[in-house]
Amino acid sequence: MYDLVLKGKLLKGGKLIEGSIGVLDGKIVEISRRELKGEVTIKIQGKGVVLPGLIDTHVHLRDFEEKKKETVESGTKAALHGGITAVFDMPNTNPPVIDTETFEKRLKLLEKNAYSDYAAGFLLSGNCGEAKTANADFYKIFMGASTGGIYSTEFGEDYSCAPGFVSVHAEDGELIKAFPDRPPLVEARAIEKALSWAERLKKPLNVCHVSTGDGLNSIISRGLPWVTFEVTPHHLFLGRKDYLKNPLLKVYPPLRDKEHQKALWEHFKEIPIIASDHAPHTLEDKENGAAGIPGLETEVALLLDAINRGLVTLQEVVEKMHDNPVRFFGIKEREFEVGGEATFTVVDLKKEWVVRADELYTKAGWSPWEGKRLRGKVTMTILRGEVVMEDDEIFGKPKGVRLNVSRGGSS
Ligand SMILES: [Zn+2]
Repeated sequence: MYDLVLKGKLLKGGKLIEGSIGVLDGKIVEISRRELKGEVTIKIQGKGVVLPGLIDTHVHLRDFEEKKKETVESGTKAALHGGITAVFDMPNTNPPVIDTETFEKRLKLLEKNAYSDYAAGFLLSGNCGEAKTANADFYKIFMGASTGGIYSTEFGEDYSCAPGFVSVHAEDGELIKAFPDRPPLVEARAIEKALSWAERLKKPLNVCHVSTGDGLNSIISRGLPWVTFEVTPHHLFLGRKDYLKNPLLKVYPPLRDKEHQKALWEHFKEIPIIASDHAPHTLEDKENGAAGIPGLETEVALLLDAINRGLVTLQEVVEKMHDNPVRFFGIKEREFEVGGEATFTVVDLKKEWVVRADELYTKAGWSPWEGKRLRGKVTMTILRGEVVMEDDEIFGKPKGVRLNVSRGGSS
């Protein structure tokens, strides 16, 4: 007898099968086409599908001195609400996570308040000694200023000293000074530079939020197996014209002209990771020019909606938000197979809903998708055999744990 049986459509190994998952002590013990017996059985009805627990590799949870924008609690609740079972916590907080003491503080905060699982980041900018003792899950390097303002003037040095996976915000610091509007060149040049270093150092590198056709093409054409990259839903679904109509859509890197958006879609299959770059700012901060937009609670639904429009397949969503993050960052026990954690995202492909910021958990208080009708919704999130979100409601205490990431940096 299992603790929990999930019965319905499952997306397993690229195929949609009708079956049951038997869960015991938070782990997947059996996946079967036949009926399984559980103390609790959840039947996933209609157009519902059970997916492996999706992961977002780029999330700003703020907290510390910026509790007004977001806290670990509100941000990880937002994650569960959006079907995200684990977030990569970005370290450009206030104060920034640039020393072991702050890193330890951050870990405690996450341990106590995280509703979703998490990976803990460390900000690298000339502080190599500290980085070596922190034992973070990944290291973030900014090549030019963004929120928080700290950036690396010696990218190669910081990248080469990083004791683990590096995620890089690739916008060139010098070019930003010359071109404050951050045209495509600012990103393309930085990506070229990062790739040259990657070629030399052969160390794992994740290029964050690629927004330009040029940047994308450089990464794809070099084809370095230890380099991966993210694209955000906002760069896929929004463009410069949207920004011109709505100044709230200010974000770094900026929303681009049609040609770049088109390039992202043309190479959609080759995009390894989709991540939100959830960057909550209050409306007041936005009025004062803050760059960044919230996205945790809409990213999966936007992709489900795109499935309904024939742009994307469900398998691609799972590849880009589960399989590839798990493989690249070496996340353990998250495989959708016997022995893996019973952590799932359940979606309903046909359920229609309208995005309303006041129904979201993020403290940002607004959404770039306000009023948008979407077809496809996350209906349930399950962490280690426990339903932690169902029909927009979050249950229980924070149960998120630190992801088991192979921190050695072997790709
Ligand atoms: Zn970011």
